[in-house]
Amino acid sequence: MKILVINSGSSSIKYQLIDMTDESVLAVGLVERIGIDGARLEQEVSGHEYVIEQAIPDHEVGMELVIAALTDEENGVISSVDEIDGVGHRVVQGGKFFDKSVLVDDDVKAKIKECAKIAPLHNPAHLMGINVCEELMPETKQVVTFDSAFHQSMPEEAYMYALPYKYYEKYDIRRYGAHGTSHKYVAQLAAEQLGKAVEETKIITCHLGNGASITAVKSGKSYDTSMGLTPLEGLVMGTRCGDIDPAAIPYIMEKEDLSPQEMDDIMNNESGFLGITGISNDTRDIEEAAEEGNQKAQLALKMFSYRAKKYIGSYVAAMNGVDAVVFTAGIGENGIEMREDICQDLDYLGIKIDTEKNNVRGKLTDITAADSKVKVYVIPTNEELVIARDTLALVAE
Ligand code: ADP
Repeated sequence: MKILVINSGSSSIKYQLIDMTDESVLAVGLVERIGIDGARLEQEVSGHEYVIEQAIPDHEVGMELVIAALTDEENGVISSVDEIDGVGHRVVQGGKFFDKSVLVDDDVKAKIKECAKIAPLHNPAHLMGINVCEELMPETKQVVTFDSAFHQSMPEEAYMYALPYKYYEKYDIRRYGAHGTSHKYVAQLAAEQLGKAVEETKIITCHLGNGASITAVKSGKSYDTSMGLTPLEGLVMGTRCGDIDPAAIPYIMEKEDLSPQEMDDIMNNESGFLGITGISNDTRDIEEAAEEGNQKAQLALKMFSYRAKKYIGSYVAAMNGVDAVVFTAGIGENGIEMREDICQDLDYLGIKIDTEKNNVRGKLTDITAADSKVKVYVIPTNEELVIARDTLALVAE
């Protein structure tokens, strides 16, 4: 059984073809700059790279190229699309409608479209990917896996905002969270490391990438998470501000004569690491600048780790304890100093890491100090594998 996993963005299509007999990745690829100059497809098969450079005006052409690359005689891995048993799509926002992955039908597509109002950058692009796959592979079943689904288990007091209740009733304004696929996956692996059923654990999962969120996973279910109605809330991120006093927003808008759209763009794309430093959204650049003495870079890193620490502390309180803290995604898996900074002075809560063991990047590692009450793990995430597993389960039904 071979499953194609698709992450369709506004100008890109990321994909993986996974052989589910042994969960091995047959091909990984990226179509980028759809609709703009310099469009290309890049595919890797067993270390061999295959690049196609040509105009890619829309997602349909992009997806046609994906199929062409996968079935290419010299550089491909399958002889025809008929070998693909199912397509699994990542969808950022499933709102109140979905608490698990589902097979695509018209009703599912209509709900994804409805959720586009709270994920305007993501959901329309996902729908494009789904529609194009349906057109190009009409015989193949399509599945959608939602970033928000795992968080549907949050209790009311965690997901409600203290705004007039009518906005929840009229517009579904509440916390939905994101990165759920990743939080669920690493929490499950952490429970295995603890030697316990996930239902018997309290785990705090820190998905720290360009977008970053922390989740309190109680008894294997999301209990609270730092991202909110949109992926803007919570931690300091590459280009997103995370938590701020909401009153700052109308204040700045008035002073700078900004539209809601312009303000939204500033908070999503011009803030975070980039906004504080003016250098970059990438932690590697910020760390380099900080080492060279750039004070804003030093400040941005301190703000990131301090905010993460606060969330960890608050989730220990929310769950009345914690068995393990997990670090995952780009910064979580690779940011040695960042992990050290976040875990510093958490010993009151029983969280202490071993700096020697922490000297690790990108592999499952127990970095707990010998005298730490709480386990701390680095666990590489694998959202594509979760999507592929869910897809396999649903297409095999
Ligand atoms: P996303 O999927 O949200 O785009 P990723 O999970 O790929 O993000 O994480 C990107 C972040 O991870 C960037 O800030 C990058 O600097 C950081 N990162 C990746 N590799 C390393 C590394 N070796 N050391 C420190 N940070 C890293």
